[in-house]
Amino acid sequence: MTSIGETELRERTRALLEQVHPDDPDVDCAAFRGAQFDHGLAWVHFPEGLGGLDLTRKAQVFVDDELRQHCKTVYNDLSVNAIGIGMGAPTVLAYGSEEMKRRYLRPIFTGEEIWCQLFSEPGAGSDVAGLSSRAVRDGDDWIVNGQKVWTSLAHYSAYGMLVTRTDPEAAKHDGLSYFVLDMKLPGVEVKPLHQITGEAEFNEVFLNDVRIPNSMMLGKEGQGWKVSITTLMNERVALGGGTESRRGAGPIQLLVDLWQERGGSDGSAADAVMRDRIAGLWIEYELLRLTNQRARSSMRSGVPGPEGSVGKLMSAELNKKLYEACLDVLEGEGLTYEPGFDLRRPSGKRLDRLSLIKHGFLRSRANSIEGGTSEIMRNILGERVLGLPQDVRVDKDRPWSEVPRNG
Ligand SMILES: Cc1cc2nc3c(=O)[nH]c(=O)nc-3n(C[C@H](O)[C@H](O)[C@H](O)COP(=O)(O)OP(=O)(O)OC[C@H]3O[C@@H](n4cnc5c(N)ncnc54)[C@H](O)[C@@H]3O)c2cc1C
Repeated sequence: MTSIGETELRERTRALLEQVHPDDPDVDCAAFRGAQFDHGLAWVHFPEGLGGLDLTRKAQVFVDDELRQHCKTVYNDLSVNAIGIGMGAPTVLAYGSEEMKRRYLRPIFTGEEIWCQLFSEPGAGSDVAGLSSRAVRDGDDWIVNGQKVWTSLAHYSAYGMLVTRTDPEAAKHDGLSYFVLDMKLPGVEVKPLHQITGEAEFNEVFLNDVRIPNSMMLGKEGQGWKVSITTLMNERVALGGGTESRRGAGPIQLLVDLWQERGGSDGSAADAVMRDRIAGLWIEYELLRLTNQRARSSMRSGVPGPEGSVGKLMSAELNKKLYEACLDVLEGEGLTYEPGFDLRRPSGKRLDRLSLIKHGFLRSRANSIEGGTSEIMRNILGERVLGLPQDVRVDKDRPWSEVPRNG
């Protein structure tokens, strides 16, 4: 760990901005973030030469703060490459060869190569270790067949994080391997799925005799579950809404502003109840913000622990309650919905606030499913944090091929 303090980190960020500035119309996202990566200011907790300076994760806040203070154009990781940055980069860092780290990390950060996560299958979501897609070794390659589903952003992705079965005779967790999949390979077929918001944010992905070189494996053969845990733990931190640093900001602000704009309380009993409900939600949001801050500060560059599941569970459940309250404030107006979303996540900029709220209400239904359902988060927290008895797992030690399943 090197010892660069706050002052020097802020100076280095200002030096970067003197060379290349995101507000300059000739500098696009890739050019600016590429320079940020080369200065070691992308992820300061990553090693030098790989986008970082070998510092603690907490130190990133000084870089981000300087960027916010001195730039009108601030690129958000979630919109640049949510899955690549939140989950792909830490997994490549933990398990990739040196060559892979040099090849993949920079374009993940710049957003030039979007990544997706190919874990869930029609018969394996919560129990992802039970998945059925198969990879069979053929010389220096693996031939992969199977189907993935709910693969967010696959229709834009250059690469996917693929978990597949390489040994059906081993117990389910032991027979998996993890690959970086080039989404342009022959045999990879991506079909968008439309969701309740009108968008097609995710996809079915069919893998038909896809030939993947063995050199694209992350970790070793049979280590796929261990590598997946790194991805999943980082996903929970990313989905837990861990980035909100200002009290009262984020989705709770939408509700408070809406309430005030609509005249706040008129003294009626119904309004007093609503005011009480909003105050309760504000307090819960503040608790979530502080919980996330604690989870992030206990996490360095390695694999985050089960604390990520606290934020994920809280934010999923709270988000649903918050948008329900917004719709109640809107009354009848909340019942209409604008059609015409295209095949991608709409950015906040394209939607007016009312549309954003209605879209947020519909989208929030997915929060307690994506990245692990709320029931699964409760299982993880019960077992790994509270030390309660484990969920019943009758198939844990049996060869996967002998476990009864549909299809
Ligand atoms: C918006 C969105 C985006 C997604 N993006 C991706 C993606 O990019 N890549 C990807 O791989 N997947 C993605 N998913 C899939 C997601 O990870 C799965 O939907 C999720 O893990 C649940 O799996 P399932 O849908 O198969 O439900 P199931 O696992 O069949 O669960 C059905 C119900 O049973 C409950 N349940 C299951 N097991 C238990 C248990 N042991 N104890 C208690 N209750 C249990 C669940 O909580 C749920 O209520 C996405 C999902 C959504 C909604």
